[in-house]
Amino acid sequence: MGKARIVLDSATCDDPEFFDVTKHTDLPRETSSCYSSALFDRDSGFSMSAELRSNFLRTQIENDLAKGQVSELVTRFPPEPNGFLHIGHAKSIAVNFGLAEQFGGRCHLRFDDTNPEKESQEFIDSIQEDVRWLGFEWSGEVRHASDYFEQFYEWALYLIEKGMAYVCDLSPEEAREYRGTLTEPGKNSPYRDRSAEENRSLFCRMRAGEYADGERVLRAKIDMASPNINLRDPILYRIRHATHHQTGDQWPIYPTYDFAHGQGDAVEGVTHSICTLEFEDHRPLYDWFIKHLPVPHAPRQIEFARLNTSYTVTSKRKLKQLVDEGIVSGWDDPRMPTIAGLRRRGYPAEAIRHFCEEVGTSRSDSLVDVAMLESAVRDRLNKFAPRAMCVMSPVRVELTNLLVPLQLSVQNHPSDSSFGHRELTMNSALLIDRDDFREQANKHFKRLVLGKRVRLRGSVVIEAESCDKDENGNVTTIYARCVTQEAGLDPEDGIKPKGVIHWVCASTAIPAVVRRYDRLFCTPEPGRSENLLDVINPHSLTILDDVMVEPALRDANPEAVFQFEREGYFVADRFDHVSEKPVFNLVIGLRDTWSDKNV
Ligand code: ATP
Ligand code: MG
Repeated sequence: MGKARIVLDSATCDDPEFFDVTKHTDLPRETSSCYSSALFDRDSGFSMSAELRSNFLRTQIENDLAKGQVSELVTRFPPEPNGFLHIGHAKSIAVNFGLAEQFGGRCHLRFDDTNPEKESQEFIDSIQEDVRWLGFEWSGEVRHASDYFEQFYEWALYLIEKGMAYVCDLSPEEAREYRGTLTEPGKNSPYRDRSAEENRSLFCRMRAGEYADGERVLRAKIDMASPNINLRDPILYRIRHATHHQTGDQWPIYPTYDFAHGQGDAVEGVTHSICTLEFEDHRPLYDWFIKHLPVPHAPRQIEFARLNTSYTVTSKRKLKQLVDEGIVSGWDDPRMPTIAGLRRRGYPAEAIRHFCEEVGTSRSDSLVDVAMLESAVRDRLNKFAPRAMCVMSPVRVELTNLLVPLQLSVQNHPSDSSFGHRELTMNSALLIDRDDFREQANKHFKRLVLGKRVRLRGSVVIEAESCDKDENGNVTTIYARCVTQEAGLDPEDGIKPKGVIHWVCASTAIPAVVRRYDRLFCTPEPGRSENLLDVINPHSLTILDDVMVEPALRDANPEAVFQFEREGYFVADRFDHVSEKPVFNLVIGLRDTWSDKNV
């Protein structure tokens, strides 16, 4: 992909204004003031006062609609089905579908499937599932660039007929040499002046499969001296004897992305073809095709900056490397920044959408702190995750004075009574977290200490009396007494507990597996490192398999998220969680609890 700056040269085309970037997007590089709308607020749990930021795309579309340049906004999300979608794609999805939703238009889902060797039905299926999971629905059927291959072929013949395309026999090495450099103009190919008749015949034979891969290409005849390398007679068709997931063995030639993309937009009546900044230098070529072909609609391309988050890679090639080398368990590993990974990790779709809105849409590249995404997840889950108790590293507590089991009714959410209550039984044998007990501690340790009091979440206040230890000095049982007899009461002697700890009942709790995830990379910009494997966080996954949880969690639905009191948010694994063996993934920790636990 050429990275030449566009230096506009009126000699390169007959309409100097045509290639004027500013004419099409004379737009600020930054987002600005606020635009009030409730688009992303639909029952999202985020403040209804949250306002949609104005951004240059919205402003542009508003203007185009106001001026009557377009009557209905039509956008598209155009993934190449060569990998799973990632958080960057979520931004593009939110932009394209979000704008269509906001302006009462339509958004298509179109697979840009011009590269069959790298593509597969598996990716097509996963992409559709991810778009829907994010909460969007495309207009009409799923579309494919390959649906229009016949039309693209006709248009290639049209360009040949008009003397604007030719079959070139230069080898790839020769073609590179002829292309020139950023500072040197290119040279015309010796095949550039073939007659339209010869070109048509050769191109038809390319289609008939008469030539080997790479033997010939079809190129547009534009300008080998253009300062924009993309205009130096770009390739329109390549020979590839490859079976295509949609068209089978019908085609031995495939259009390039540049030739297919804009024309796909034109066929579909897309009005605003929104893509990322790396395509800015391709826009003159996009416009050249639209201008010279008899297309039914004239879409226009507008670029915005890619979303990059810290501690994340979003290159599909690098994500594939992580999968292929077994660093993660698959594209949907909960540590992956793929939509499928984030979903399995327990990130709510609403939080991802909210984050995409929050980061804004601009024309300047930047790195967004991934903590912003994590914070959107926390905010959403704080409101919508019911509470439950899970003891990660259990140690036994015997309540010496509890003779009859207590029946407790515990709130499922501290501030939302609509979550209701659950019934818990508490008898004299409990399990608490090993880290929540010390024989001695200073006043900063607000948990259970010999001779000190603590409240059991949703239950009574207890005071530790003594403990047993094994030969290695590990505590095996803690003996404690109930200071109060009823849940929620304060001790009568006025000596109040300093803290609250969570617990489960030893006889009814069930074992579970907990997977604690951390960031996959230990540097903020892993994509910059020469070898990705050098910056993998070796502690990105810890599996705890002797965890004890409340019995009702056996019936948790896969993908249900809970706040395990004082531990964080956990999701029942989408695939591995079954009632016989509950499996929970850490979604995200509770920031306050972390600091409390690290005292
Ligand atoms: P590749 O590197 O394989 O070309 P890609 O990331 O460009 O992959 P596509 O499938 O071509 O993936 O992307 C579909 C759409 O998503 C494109 O319009 C692209 O511009 C957009 N997109 C991709 N990555 C990001 C990102 N990080 N931020 C915003 N949009 C993105
Ligand atoms: Mg791409």
